[in-house]
Amino acid sequence: MSNTVFISDLHLAPERPQIIALFLRFADAVAAKADTLFILGDFVEYWLGDDDPAPALTPIFDKLAELSEKHGTRVFFMHGNRDFLIGEKLAERCHFQLIDEPYALSMNGKKMLLMHGDTLCTDDIEYQKFRQMVRSPLWKQEILSKSLEERIQIARQFREQSQKSTTEKEETIMDVNQQETDKVFIDNDITLLIHGHTHRPAIHHKTINGIETTRIVLGDWYNTGSYLIIRDDDNYADPELKVYT
Ligand code: MN
Repeated sequence: MSNTVFISDLHLAPERPQIIALFLRFADAVAAKADTLFILGDFVEYWLGDDDPAPALTPIFDKLAELSEKHGTRVFFMHGNRDFLIGEKLAERCHFQLIDEPYALSMNGKKMLLMHGDTLCTDDIEYQKFRQMVRSPLWKQEILSKSLEERIQIARQFREQSQKSTTEKEETIMDVNQQETDKVFIDNDITLLIHGHTHRPAIHHKTINGIETTRIVLGDWYNTGSYLIIRDDDNYADPELKVYT
């Protein structure tokens, strides 16, 4: 039997040392016992490039490396909207494998798909435009060629803008769009979708074109930890979101 653990939206940051400590405990208690750990984005609150020494985050990066080195847990990392500048250099340091979104895999003969989740929020047109800009290879190249100090400034501006527009937006705009989500199930021929981003942890069952589907939304780590575990002998209809404290 093997088991796979999924987490997202930890938003680890020096400003929240208690969540860093919580993740370190989680890594030893849960992730170290898993065969595979999938991190589905927004692992850190922000990332400005692999040349940032980010000393406050050293313990979590060391812990990730330890997971595969010491415990044999394979770690896969998908970018979120906060940490999409994480590159191969950090991947090497932390011994994780960067994976593209969406990421398809098959467990127990069932086809499933992993996403961060922000691309499902198509009602937020302003955000989708912003995403398209910052995720283009050219923009990334341009930003990474700036000094770390300049990048800190730019990131600060983005955060202020984002906080301002987020408070002005209606709640529903920042959730997934149902048509877009249905389309992902149909286009990819899957029955299970796992994502984060919306910070609305839930397990949604829905019949799409006569096929029963499950969409699992991972929770954020603002107050407690949140994770999903799938054992290879599990019935996919009944996976459970778990809280970690
Ligand atoms: Mn996100």
